[in-house]
Amino acid sequence: MRALRLLEWKSEPRLVEVPDPEPGPGQVVIRIGGAGACHSDLHLMHEFGDGVVPWAPPFTLGHENAGWVHALGAGVGHLEVGQPVAVYGPWGCGVCARCLMGLETYCEDPASAPVAGGGGGLGLDGGMAEYMLVPSSRLLLALPDGLDPLHAAPLTDAALTPYHAIRRSWPKLTPGSHAVVIGVGGLGHMAVQILRATTAARIVAVDARPEALTLATEYGADAVVQAGAAAAEEIRAATGGRGADVVLDLVGSDETLALGAVVARQMGDLTVVGIAGGTLPVSFFSVPYEVSIQTTYWGSRPELAEVLDLGARGLLVPRVTTVGLEGAVDAYRSLAEGKVDGRIVVVPGS
Ligand code: NAD
Ligand code: ZN
Ligand code: ZN
Repeated sequence: MRALRLLEWKSEPRLVEVPDPEPGPGQVVIRIGGAGACHSDLHLMHEFGDGVVPWAPPFTLGHENAGWVHALGAGVGHLEVGQPVAVYGPWGCGVCARCLMGLETYCEDPASAPVAGGGGGLGLDGGMAEYMLVPSSRLLLALPDGLDPLHAAPLTDAALTPYHAIRRSWPKLTPGSHAVVIGVGGLGHMAVQILRATTAARIVAVDARPEALTLATEYGADAVVQAGAAAAEEIRAATGGRGADVVLDLVGSDETLALGAVVARQMGDLTVVGIAGGTLPVSFFSVPYEVSIQTTYWGSRPELAEVLDLGARGLLVPRVTTVGLEGAVDAYRSLAEGKVDGRIVVVPGS
């Protein structure tokens, strides 16, 4: 089969021929229906090197995957060939305290995981190929009626990641509150919808690109703000002068972190999800009183089930552009150039 593989650090991936995967005991091979192109792949292609993460190329890209069960390994009883499924992407040991909670992002025994600190598309072969080996049926969630693999794929990361971050801040997202979303790309256009579907907060969306702000308005943002020198003042005005109860920084640069710190309301949350590598000096007077600053990484398996439910009910609808495997390298280039609205999803064979 054909697969889009990262062959070495600091390079673009290549479309190459590899053997079809075969499932061992407890494992499942899925036929890919969609594999999302995440901005994190750009970071890992162009910025990562040995020692940044505990895994290394070569591997097939694509950590945002859904498809249909293609072949079952011995002992897998609860799935059927042809059934549509989403892949839970972070792969832990499955049995430590965190994994038992479904929080395999924070597996406490990574040496016993299929790959330490990674998953399919992150050290092991991912979904930018016709077929993908999933090392345990525990990592597959059946798609609820109303959701197809193409639209489920972005839900497994572009939606699950902001969902986890937003869910953590739910107690602060009361009626009358304000949430600021910085960066309305793949994750951000889902974040706006998640806030709309699960909270009563007013939503202020910030982006450098006018097209992204248009998308945010379409998906229900109450106000949009162009990134730049006037952004802090405009956000403050949009929050009635109080500041944001919750800021989601889906970029993570020096500039966006500084903006988040300035526009947060006292006692608010500033959650850093974007990994652009910026830093924020923190001291007693550098952020408003009692602001909690946190990072979040991806999400849990139970949260993925909740996200899929929202998707099946039509409450989370990713803006998807599809390309075939041969279009994937160009798709990543477009993403790097800031030319993508929503998410590009690779559909092998399309
Ligand atoms: P994307 O490229 O689809 O979207 C990024 C958006 O941010 C774009 O709309 C862009 O115009 C906007 N932007 C860039 N600079 C900006 C600025 N200074 N001010 C305002 N807006 C700006 O990317 P994505 O796939 O949504 O990923 C977003 C970030 O989240 C990336 O850094 C990615 O690596 C990271 N990420 C983190 C996790 C996690 O678990 N923490 C998971 C997935 C992705
Ligand atoms: Zn990702
Ligand atoms: Zn574990």
